[in-house]
Amino acid sequence: MYALVTGASRGIGKSITKSLLKEDGRVIGTARSSEFPAEFTENEDFEGLHVDLSDPIAVETKLKPIFQRDEAPKVLINNAGIFRDVDFEEDDESWLQNWDNTMQVNLRAPALLSKWALNRWKKEEGGYLINIASRAAYRGDTQEYASYAASKGGMVALTKSIARDFGKDDISAYSIAPGFIKTDMAMDSIEIYGEDYLTEGMAFDEITSPDEVGELVAFLASGKVPHMTGATFHINGGSYMI
Ligand code: NAP
Repeated sequence: MYALVTGASRGIGKSITKSLLKEDGRVIGTARSSEFPAEFTENEDFEGLHVDLSDPIAVETKLKPIFQRDEAPKVLINNAGIFRDVDFEEDDESWLQNWDNTMQVNLRAPALLSKWALNRWKKEEGGYLINIASRAAYRGDTQEYASYAASKGGMVALTKSIARDFGKDDISAYSIAPGFIKTDMAMDSIEIYGEDYLTEGMAFDEITSPDEVGELVAFLASGKVPHMTGATFHINGGSYMI
């Protein structure tokens, strides 16, 4: 399989990329500014690209051409995301700045990438869209992460809308809703509250490895379950079950 993975330098995106390369996939991986791991750059099936998703012009100039190449990826994994807090008591301008930035990175850029991918896949033999949402889409988050929860809720609704309308073009779309996953993004919470606090209410006494998400994505990208289209896969250590 040939895939585009955003946020491939670290965390969940790194695990996704590892799993796809292990399955003999080819991957275009993006990051904002970090170097890619040597295990990727030394692999001829990996192509790395730096693009800041908060910059709409960079998104258009660097990512749109990927879906205009002679051969375009058949799998798109919208994984890159930001988790930035802002309190309801902040002034309106700072509060909205957080909302605009979060929406741009977590929803607008992934939506546009999905649009470019779908319009290409419709003309060919279809494709697979996998959006990394969050449990926050289902259970909300604390007030200071309301923009994050809203962006992920939007992503799930986007995924379902695509799933409803593009199945006849052999396109399937899935959401994954992780709980706490052991990456840099979760480290802040681990540092503040400790891992024990985060595992309270979970079925396990450690938070989830990003490699589990990587394995799930590789399975969905394999094309073995196209009729699961529209589904959300909850991977949260049993912290809630729906
Ligand atoms: P992470 O460890 O913070 O890694 C984020 C990745 O996204 C990095 O590759 C980073 O690139 C890239 N990225 C961040 N901002 C970007 C921007 N403005 N433009 C382009 N790339 C950008 O995050 P993670 O924990 O792996 O999270 C991956 C996804 O899972 C996110 O969508 C997140 O919301 C979701 N998720 C995570 C958890 C969790 O507990 N970790 C739970 C639920 C959902 P650089 O390395 O260059 O910064």
